[in-house]
Amino acid sequence: MQVITSVCEMQDICKTYYRAGKTIGFVPTMGYLHEGHLALMKEARKENDIVIVSVFVNPLQFGPNEDFESYPRDVKRDEELANELGVDYFFLPSIDAIYPEPLNTKLVAERRVNALCGRKREGHFDGVVTVLTKLFNIVFPDHVYMGLKDAQQVAVVQGLVDDYYIPTKIVPVATVREADGLAKSSRNVYLNDNERKLAPKLYESLQKAERLVKNGERNPETVLTLVKDELAKINADIDYVEIYAYPTFEILEKLTGKIVLALAVKFSQARLIDNIIIDVSEVCRNVSYNDEC
Ligand code: AMP
Repeated sequence: MQVITSVCEMQDICKTYYRAGKTIGFVPTMGYLHEGHLALMKEARKENDIVIVSVFVNPLQFGPNEDFESYPRDVKRDEELANELGVDYFFLPSIDAIYPEPLNTKLVAERRVNALCGRKREGHFDGVVTVLTKLFNIVFPDHVYMGLKDAQQVAVVQGLVDDYYIPTKIVPVATVREADGLAKSSRNVYLNDNERKLAPKLYESLQKAERLVKNGERNPETVLTLVKDELAKINADIDYVEIYAYPTFEILEKLTGKIVLALAVKFSQARLIDNIIIDVSEVCRNVSYNDEC
């Protein structure tokens, strides 16, 4: 595995592969790698000639009161893990390399962002689409691997790729979880012992809601109330619990089609997110709630 810090060098390498007809699989990350990231890399390794992983904590996607400075970092360990997984290139640009001067042209995420983290973290997805557009133009990926743990991010980036005919395929990868259901996240290290014990309740409440939907519940409010009641049992400081059509993030009067049920909960030092995507039409076919379909 080669470690590359220069944008020009990374771009030259990728250009050569692209021209030679080699497929490039790309996994953009902010580092502090865990098994969620590794799952993306494994997928990439299976499906591409060349695998590139980037580690870049993107200041543009953090708000002024967010955790950019304290975001966990351990590049040496990240490098080792990527190397063990058979990654070809570990791209590690500096902030100055990615943002050498103020942008001449700004990108703004317009749709799919008026919900969840898009609404709670102003400018967050503008930062995400900006950095990914830059990275895509450096790496020329055939496939980009992204985790459904950040389902809104996948939807927003799919929108970017569609809008601008970016010649890449976004490959969504299922959320990797701890044995007790907690979604793996770099931010889990912020949890104290007690919070760590309570945190599996997030996924548990989503699963309860999923069962409710699978048993025929179609009223979004009823489902949201169930999740909030479950979270109240651990006195969770709820940032949001919301439900939308996926991937459009349109508001639903009645649950139908593909839906995303998502939550964000604040702990003392961490804000954790999780979600579950349910295909209600599939549920209908399987359970045959015909009048609901
Ligand atoms: P991050 O380093 O948090 O920006 O994440 C980099 C990529 O890894 C994103 O596409 C995330 O959605 C994905 N990811 C993070 N956590 C998980 C997880 N638990 N399971 C699957 N993918 C994940």
